[in-house]
Amino acid sequence: MAAGGQVAHGVPGRDWGSICGMQVRDVIAAVDHLAPFALAEPWDHVGVQVGSPGDELRAGGAAGAAGAAPVVLVALEVDDAVLDEARRLGAAVVVSHHPLIFDPLERLSDDSEAGRLALRAAREGVAVIAAHTSLDKARGGMADVIAELLDLEAVVPLAPAAADALKLVGFVPADDADLVRKALFAAGAGVIGEYEHCSWSVGGQGTFFGRETTNPAAGVPGRDETVDELRIEVVFPRRLRRRVTSTYVAAHPYEEPAYDVIPLDNEIASLGLGRLGALPKPTTLAELAEDVAAVLRLSSVRYSGGAGREVRRVAVLPGSGAEAIARGVAQVADVLITGDVKYHEARAAQAQGLALIDAPHGVTEQEGVLRWAGRLADALGTAASVETFRNAAVAVWSDSGGGATAAASVTAREDAPDEAGETEEVEASAPAPSPQPAPAVATAPAAAAAPAPREGVRSVNRDDDRYHLYTDGGARGNPGPAGIGARLMTAGGDVVEDVSDYIGKATNNVAEYQALIAGLEVALDRGVERLDVFLDSELVVRQVNGRYKVKDAGLKPLHQQACLLLSRFHEVDVKHVRREQNAAADALVNQAIDAATT
Ligand SMILES: [Zn+2]
Repeated sequence: MAAGGQVAHGVPGRDWGSICGMQVRDVIAAVDHLAPFALAEPWDHVGVQVGSPGDELRAGGAAGAAGAAPVVLVALEVDDAVLDEARRLGAAVVVSHHPLIFDPLERLSDDSEAGRLALRAAREGVAVIAAHTSLDKARGGMADVIAELLDLEAVVPLAPAAADALKLVGFVPADDADLVRKALFAAGAGVIGEYEHCSWSVGGQGTFFGRETTNPAAGVPGRDETVDELRIEVVFPRRLRRRVTSTYVAAHPYEEPAYDVIPLDNEIASLGLGRLGALPKPTTLAELAEDVAAVLRLSSVRYSGGAGREVRRVAVLPGSGAEAIARGVAQVADVLITGDVKYHEARAAQAQGLALIDAPHGVTEQEGVLRWAGRLADALGTAASVETFRNAAVAVWSDSGGGATAAASVTAREDAPDEAGETEEVEASAPAPSPQPAPAVATAPAAAAAPAPREGVRSVNRDDDRYHLYTDGGARGNPGPAGIGARLMTAGGDVVEDVSDYIGKATNNVAEYQALIAGLEVALDRGVERLDVFLDSELVVRQVNGRYKVKDAGLKPLHQQACLLLSRFHEVDVKHVRREQNAAADALVNQAIDAATT
C-alpha cells in the first residue's frame, strides 16, 4: 500500500537514521492515509502533537544500532510506561489513540500531566502523533476492527461522517482545461474515497469585456468577447482551501479567472462513527456478551437486557457511545456494545427494548488500536518496525473482591498486526454470565475476576529484566502417561529454574496447558514482570492469545487459569516456536515420564 508514496523508499539493513532519512512526516502521512485527520471531530486534536515533521527518524534499538529500522510504537495513550518502552526500543515515534494534549496547555512544564509527558517526549526525541476520532471513523479503524473481531456482516457506519469538503467550480478555456485539472489534482483536489483525479466538466460560453488597461489571454481589450470554456468542478477538503484556490488562479491562463467555492453538506456513507452489522446467525445476549469478553480478553463484561434474549443486529461504538441511545439506535439494532453508559441512559435503552453490552472504554479501544497497528505496519512496510504497547492503566476499575474487571495484559505483538478480514473463532475464557432478567443497569457475570495488572514498575535497565520461559507438555499415547517441562531463563540465557513433573494420564493438550501454568507460576513466584513465553503448541498459543475458540470442555478451566496467570504480568508475549527450538523443555518432559514409568 502506498502511504503518501514516500515511506517505502528503502532497503532493509541500511542505516535508516543517517542515510535514508525517513522522517516524522512519513509516519504522519501513513497515519493520515489510513485514518485521515480530516475525519476528526471539530473539537478533537489529531495529528502530530509533539515533534517536527522534518525530523529524521533515528534507527531503532536500544543504542540506535546502525542498520536497525526506525521503531514506531502504537499505544492507546501516552504515559510514562509508554515512554519507558519507547526508550527501551529506541522508538522515534509514538502513535496514540487518545491525544496526549487535549485541553490547551498554558505552559510546557511539569505543572500538568500532559505538559510533563509532552516535555519528556520532546526531551527524549520521541514524536507523538494522535489518531483519535479520525481513527474511530476510518475504514479499517477502531470500530471496524471490533466489528471484524465479532464477525459482524454487512457492516456500515452507525453515523455517517460529515464530509468537511468544499467544491471549486472554475471556468477554463477548453484548450487549457487539462493543465488546470492536473494542477488542481496535484494540489490535493479531486479525491473521493479511494478515487483520485475526480472532476466533472461541461462546455459553455464565457463572455467578457476587457477595459483598455487589460491584457486578456483571449481576444483584445475594449471589445465584447465570447470564449468557449469548460466548467470544471472538483471537491477538496476544507483545510486545502488556500492551496487549491491559489493553484487554480496560478494555473489558469486568464488575468482574472472566475471561480466559485461552494460549501458541501454531504455525508460520506462509507465512513463514520460506530458500526452497525449483523451476526452470521442470531445468538443470545449472554453468548454475545461472552464473545465480547473474549475479544477484549476480559474475564467478563456486564450486559443489560436479559440473558436469553435473541440478538442479531449489533451496533458497536468503541469508547463512549451512550449518546447513540438517545439518537434512536434501537430502531436499527437489537444490542449496542459500548462503554461509559450511565444509569439513566441504560434505563432509556431498556425502555426502548435495546440490549446493552458494557465494553469498557479503555479496554475496547486498546484492543482496537493495537490490532489497527497491523495496518500501520503494512503501510510503512520495511521502512519502519511497528511495535505495540499495552497501557496497564486501562483497567481503571477493580472489584471489591480484589480483582480488576479487566485482565488486560496479555501482550501479543505478533498477534496485534492482525490482517484485515482475518477472523479466527474466539470464545470467552470464562463461564457464561448468569442468566438474570434485566435489572436496571447490568447483570454481573459469575466469572472469576482477573487480578489487577501490576502498576507499571520501572527499573533502570529495562533490557535486563525480560525473562524467557519455555514450556512443553507431552503424553505417550493420547491420552497416555504425560509429563510437563518448563525452563525459566534470564534474557542473557542463564537458567533460573526448571520444572519437570509427571502428571499421570492426560492428553497432549492438557499436558501443554499444565506445563504453561506451572511455568507461569514459577515466573510469578520469582517476581518476573516482563516475560516472553515460548511453546511449540500452536493451539495453546492461539487459544491464550484469544484467536481460537476453546471447544474442549476439559481445556476450558485450564485455559482460563492460564489467562488469569498471564494477566498478572506487567508485560507478556506468548509465542509459538518450532519443536526443535523447544528442545530443553521437551527433554524435561521426557525425563519426567521416564522417571515415572520405568
Ligand atoms: Zn477513548
